[in-house]
Amino acid sequence: MKSPIRIVLAGGCALGLLSAPAAAWAEQPAAAAPKPAATAKPTAKPTAKPKPVDCTKVKCIALTFDDGPGKYADKLLATLKKHDAKATFFLEGQYVKSRPKLAKQIVDAGHDIGNHSYSHPKFTETSIDEIREELQKTQDIVKKVTGRYPTTIRPPYGLLDDDTKTVAAEMKMPIILWNGGSRDWATRNEKAIYDEVLKNAKRDGVILMHDWVAQTVTVMPKLLTELKKQGYHLVAVSSLPGAKALKPAEVFPVSAAADKDLSTDSPTGDPDDFAESPADDS
Ligand SMILES: [Zn+2]
Repeated sequence: MKSPIRIVLAGGCALGLLSAPAAAWAEQPAAAAPKPAATAKPTAKPTAKPKPVDCTKVKCIALTFDDGPGKYADKLLATLKKHDAKATFFLEGQYVKSRPKLAKQIVDAGHDIGNHSYSHPKFTETSIDEIREELQKTQDIVKKVTGRYPTTIRPPYGLLDDDTKTVAAEMKMPIILWNGGSRDWATRNEKAIYDEVLKNAKRDGVILMHDWVAQTVTVMPKLLTELKKQGYHLVAVSSLPGAKALKPAEVFPVSAAADKDLSTDSPTGDPDDFAESPADDS
């Protein structure tokens, strides 16, 4: 029976069984992504690896993209590369299956990948067995397609309960939420997305976006230019100072678990919200 107690983005993660060592996700080596020669220092060797960004010393922000690979992922990847930006993609198993090339491109470009379930159910309304199956099926298809396992979980709609945490602990993966939305899926408007992200941008913030929203991808060059102008370094979540040694089932960012129902930042599950979802042309 499903527990009547639902934890929706509430509180910490003080499960007694969480004493296992930190997941290896923070140690995951970044794929080789040499800086373009044009941005390299004149003295740098052409083959020199870019220096990792130290977010304890510089201002960082992590853009995250859910439900992908979305149908505009290739355009987004090109923009991120041009701006020397890293991001985190929370992949949905069914779209990894239908868009394997894009999933591979994401990994090969050195971005972080996380597990966003296989078919996007609300984990607060599914059994623990279904949660386990949704996540494991996605682990398997991502590994098969990209050669790498996702190392974090973002539950659909940011909804989680004790069962979700139990499975995350079993799979030795932390849970990544967000503390700034873009409402891109709702507004589908470049200016609105741009304004919302800049309003929510803060040092070490985690921003939720979707690479199946066309306007998110088309406004990205302008948005990245402005964020960089404001001094931000665009990094994957695993580069943020608080995300270095997360324990299995630990929820990050901590502020996301506090007092706001983040599911209002995420599509509600109403089919209308997904009118432009990757399913359209899969
Ligand atoms: Zn989602």
